[in-house]
Amino acid sequence: MSGSRPSISVERYGDRLRRAAVAAGRHERDALLIGVGADLRYLAGYDALPLERLTMLVVPAVGTPTLVVPRLESLPARSCPAVAGLLVELVTWDETDDPMLVLAELVGSGGSGRLAVSDRLWASFLLGLQRAIPGATFSLASVILRELRMIKDADEIELLRLAAHAADRVIAEMAAGPLIGRTEADVAAEIRRRLVAEGHETADFAIVGSGPNSASPHHGASARLIRAGEPLLLDIGGPFDGYGSDVTRVLWLTGGDPDQGPDAEYRRLYDVLYEAQAEGTAAARPGVPAERVDAVSRALITAAGYGPNFFHRLGHGIGLEAHEEPYLVAGNAEPLAPGMAFSIEPGIYLEGRYGARIEDIVVCGPSGPIVLNEAPRELLVVPG
Ligand code: ZN
Ligand code: ZN
Ligand code: ZN
Repeated sequence: MSGSRPSISVERYGDRLRRAAVAAGRHERDALLIGVGADLRYLAGYDALPLERLTMLVVPAVGTPTLVVPRLESLPARSCPAVAGLLVELVTWDETDDPMLVLAELVGSGGSGRLAVSDRLWASFLLGLQRAIPGATFSLASVILRELRMIKDADEIELLRLAAHAADRVIAEMAAGPLIGRTEADVAAEIRRRLVAEGHETADFAIVGSGPNSASPHHGASARLIRAGEPLLLDIGGPFDGYGSDVTRVLWLTGGDPDQGPDAEYRRLYDVLYEAQAEGTAAARPGVPAERVDAVSRALITAAGYGPNFFHRLGHGIGLEAHEEPYLVAGNAEPLAPGMAFSIEPGIYLEGRYGARIEDIVVCGPSGPIVLNEAPRELLVVPG
């Protein structure tokens, strides 16, 4: 980690833990039981290994939170901000202990309790808890934590911005070529290396869709050779200090031959898409229902006759998870609020021919959208 990056302060974790406890009480839960994953990282700053041995943060509605970890993980657990900052008590269990009994003692007041478990908790742990605390009722913690995690604080937004800029740089580096004559998989491997070189922890995904493959939204990268006279869709990203980047841009490769530029249909399709992406972004303001933003983009694409060719939602929330709430999709009436971060990524796909998508990460600011990506959104006509 370089010194210029913001990091989430101990005070922030204290604030999150307090607000989570209050929200648990408001939802009439006795405690939150948080397994390994984004919720744990959010509340305690602990990026724990997903092991078959139980790691669990217990946040009671009233009282001090406790982090239960296997003894061999006690060093990393002790150094996470919430434990090091004395916000959370650490309890370790030994190799021959039953961690479920430790949990039952912590939360199972007389074998019962109203408990909310993190959504990604493994079934083996949940079934173990149900056995150990037979009178307890279980519900999903996301109902409680979504209110917190959806609204990003200034440090989180700054990390999302740094992530976006790092991915933007990779787009620019790739647009410089060479691309023609290489396989999609080879280009994807280079993108992954560059994402890490630009500061990502890992490269989660590198979609490289050339020619007809650009019409498949989650294509991946194949052994197909990239050619001149066709589009190349890049959708790339990964975590940057935990916070995700996710950007899509389309290049058109000419091979240096002006006759190999985009045809009239592609130009038209791209103009419609560009407009739809811009208008969707402009609609992302506080109080606007999430589904309304999708509808604004979709109406433009539909009016141009491409309605059936845009067959996925407009966007997804992003933060410690690559896809999280809020989802910009018909049926989600959740009003946008300052601090929400999400993708705006309309696409138009003509199966068998070609397709395009433009994707930015956008934060709902107090008075309108704040676009984090800076890479140009115009069709990038390059020699390749
Ligand atoms: Zn996707
Ligand atoms: Zn994407
Ligand atoms: Zn996305």
